[in-house]
Amino acid sequence: MSSDLPALPRFAIAIDGPAASGKSTLARELAKRLGLVMVNSGAMYRAVTWKALQENIDPADDAAVIAMMDRIDIHCGEIGMKSTCTIDGVDPSNELRSEAINANVSAISAIPEVRDRLVQLQRNYLDHTSIIMEGRDIGSVVFPDTPFKIYIDADEDVRAARRAHVGEVDSVSKRDAADSERITAPLKIADGAVVLDTSHHTIESGVTAAIEILKQQGLPEI
Ligand code: C5P
Repeated sequence: MSSDLPALPRFAIAIDGPAASGKSTLARELAKRLGLVMVNSGAMYRAVTWKALQENIDPADDAAVIAMMDRIDIHCGEIGMKSTCTIDGVDPSNELRSEAINANVSAISAIPEVRDRLVQLQRNYLDHTSIIMEGRDIGSVVFPDTPFKIYIDADEDVRAARRAHVGEVDSVSKRDAADSERITAPLKIADGAVVLDTSHHTIESGVTAAIEILKQQGLPEI
């Protein structure tokens, strides 16, 4: 049966920011409140890094990484409201937070060919659903035309403490420096993004502040 009602336009909310700034927690909570699929773009870069390490490919060897990208099958979708990715049919999501991946993901994500492929997969989500996507270049490169952009930040010591609290070995400042200094799609505050510093926010007050920003950016009916 067909309906004469116009389809609601799909939209993307872009949440960017440095490592451990609180963007995943915030994006997850916002996704729940707004009933949107939450896409973790960092997990895609981590999954490619996982595959490279599995195949004993040196993440600094761009040519070898690019050749691997040409060989592998990457599928991204969602289960319920949460994004998933498989590589050659394997879902590596339980292995993506290792020290080795934390240490190597910035090298892999600096390779333009890796980014081209993953950005396309990220944009494909909008073909079937509205999303909230978190990463480094979502507001600047993946969805530059979305009006809904928040850049999440937090003091460096707060971010390091958050990582330590969850027992992860992760050189947050080193990763941020590499992600900010790379040539292609560096971490930056996108045009039109509003900065939200979560250093002194609780989860609840951070969500409230983010919803206020999104309302000001024109998101209806929150
Ligand atoms: O968000 P998360 O810390 O899991 O991201 C892991 C890494 O993936 C980042 O340090 C960055 O190198 C890369 N990344 C990226 N662009 C994105 C998301 C993540 O380059 N949109």
